[in-house]
Amino acid sequence: MAVKRELFAGEVLYRQGDPSDCAWLVEHGSVELVSVQGRREISHGVLGAGELIGELGMLDGAPRSATAIARGDCVLLAIEHDQFLARLDSSDPIVRTLVDNLLRHVRNIIASLPADSALPSEDSASDDPSERGGIEKIRLETQLRDALATGTLEVRYQPLYDIPAGRVTSYEALVRWDLPGRGAVSPAEFIKLAEETSLIVPVGEYVLDRVIDVLVKLRESGAAPLPSIAVNLSAKQLVEPGMARQVVSRVQKAGLPAGALKLEVTESRMLDYAPVDAVMQHCRKHGIPFALDDFGTGYSNLTHLYRLGFEFIKVDQAFARHMFDSPRAMAVVEAIVGMAHGIGAEVITEGVETPQQLQRLRELGVRYAQGYLIGQAQTAAAVLSGEAARAGEAGARGR
Ligand code: C2E
Ligand code: MG
Ligand code: MG
Repeated sequence: MAVKRELFAGEVLYRQGDPSDCAWLVEHGSVELVSVQGRREISHGVLGAGELIGELGMLDGAPRSATAIARGDCVLLAIEHDQFLARLDSSDPIVRTLVDNLLRHVRNIIASLPADSALPSEDSASDDPSERGGIEKIRLETQLRDALATGTLEVRYQPLYDIPAGRVTSYEALVRWDLPGRGAVSPAEFIKLAEETSLIVPVGEYVLDRVIDVLVKLRESGAAPLPSIAVNLSAKQLVEPGMARQVVSRVQKAGLPAGALKLEVTESRMLDYAPVDAVMQHCRKHGIPFALDDFGTGYSNLTHLYRLGFEFIKVDQAFARHMFDSPRAMAVVEAIVGMAHGIGAEVITEGVETPQQLQRLRELGVRYAQGYLIGQAQTAAAVLSGEAARAGEAGARGR
């Protein structure tokens, strides 16, 4: 279904009696709801920008109770069943019961009205900030679906510097979403949103597909050794049914060598050992190593370090930032490095922005540095041409 619908004045969005296959959010313009009761045509009001249409029918599956007609030129976003239903299913059973009851009440009220009376409009706008916030979230999620369908999410690649080797040997894939009219939306915001619904699965597949494509192109261009690329997966994504199988089968299908693809997992309170461990073991058996991302902040749990066998520990950028202004931060970095080495993991430090930080990390025996000092996230084309130039230089030196 098209995510966005544009209507001209007088055009019908849906008719009374049609199946309720989705709800709509009015983006621009206005829509009038009209029903025919006997011989009378009754208007239920006009809905404008920021208002929802047809969400009752979408929730309880009843046919459309009125016809929706564009009053002027308007733009609407479709809100699909699962955007609402997935959230409702995962909500507290008490909330579900309340919603079911409210739905029944509203339907009973409508059914008890005299046939020729004006039905209360299904929908009404609200000034309540929390409700406006909800509408904004619905809008963002709908636009994210659109971005996935039209391929407008971009994946950028931030270089990781191998400190002892003195060169860039790997990249981290970071997804970017440039939303028309709003600018760049941070993945920190939209990944969380995607995680609330099943959208996180196609977002993950989207990123994975692009990363594998870049790895294949790098191999074809003769990059040797082949740089590796790390993909971020939230713990929730990782244990999504079929995810690990997908990752392994895509890597195998592309014929990539072991270690070419890495996975970065951010700690989360919900990290559930048994399934995470099973997935990690399956991936590892097929040459896909793991990094524990943002270590030292959020839900850092030292048990993860020995139970899950991460090959890499990524020290959160907050530590690099404060290394020199806080002796305590420095001591924490040293302790994390010692702990990581003790369990046989390599350390990656995020957020390296100055040569002094890099020098200190070198002295501490940190293996990789990542941050603006090394480079910002680049486009796939820049990575491919950069690696080709590097291969050319190495070839010239070898002759
Ligand atoms: P992360 O994995 O810890 O990624 C590092 C973040 O730090 C990136 O922000 C990067 O642009 C930023 N950064 C890198 N170097 C520096 C530096 O020197 N200084 C400062 N101040 N910042 C630096 P970004 O791209 O906004 O990503 C934010 C988070 O979103 C990521 O944190 C990651 O957790 C998540 N994310 C990004 N792409 C994906 C994805 O494809 N899937 C999933 N599940 N999460 C993703
Ligand atoms: Mg990461
Ligand atoms: Mg990180």
